[in-house]
Amino acid sequence: MTVVQTLIDLQEVDGRIRELELELKDLPRRKALETARLNGVTADLQAAKTNQEKANQRVRELEDDAKALKDKIQQLKVSQMGLKTNKEYQDFSIQIDLVSHDLETTENNQLAAMDDLPSAEARIKDAQEKFDAAAGGVKAYCDEIDERIAAVSAELAQAQKERAEKAKLVTDPRFMLYYERLRTKRWPVVVQLTREGVCDGCHLVQPPSVSQMVDHNTGLVACTMCGRILYRDI
Ligand SMILES: [Zn+2]
Repeated sequence: MTVVQTLIDLQEVDGRIRELELELKDLPRRKALETARLNGVTADLQAAKTNQEKANQRVRELEDDAKALKDKIQQLKVSQMGLKTNKEYQDFSIQIDLVSHDLETTENNQLAAMDDLPSAEARIKDAQEKFDAAAGGVKAYCDEIDERIAAVSAELAQAQKERAEKAKLVTDPRFMLYYERLRTKRWPVVVQLTREGVCDGCHLVQPPSVSQMVDHNTGLVACTMCGRILYRDI
């Protein structure tokens, strides 16, 4: 096997490693995007709960108000019993009428407030259902991503082992060094020199001398433009 062939084999593994690493970087991002979809339904559910809490609060407040007004009426009636003059008695009757009127209004408001409760309840139920459905979907998707992360990690570990083996087969350290230096900057590193003498990496036509060197397999031949290692399928 030529040394260029050993580099091509190494590059094949490196290609897989690059893809796996890219995917591994992308998977958590996809998971975060999916989880963010829950934000809307979570906010709706929270708003529905706050709304219900307010509705209950209003009913309780009106109950308290009604109770206070009833007590007040009771108190006025008791006081009225001990009054001496007609005038005083009539004044109290007027007061009692006024407070009774307030009580009536409060009780009407109380009924109206209680009418709001079922719809507040229904809104929560609806929001909860939507939340549950979305959360279920998101969880299933995130579980799938977690599985994929585990699978890709395992594949990557395997590929890295394979790479170590392939790297051992590159017997010329100068080739290896050259390849490694170029790997992060120009991918792929080892490219074909086409039949027309064009570098398949940067598409520059090479001088005839380069083609000759590639054909005669005289060591490491690099593209005069991009520096990629050239080879030709025979
Ligand atoms: Zn080139």
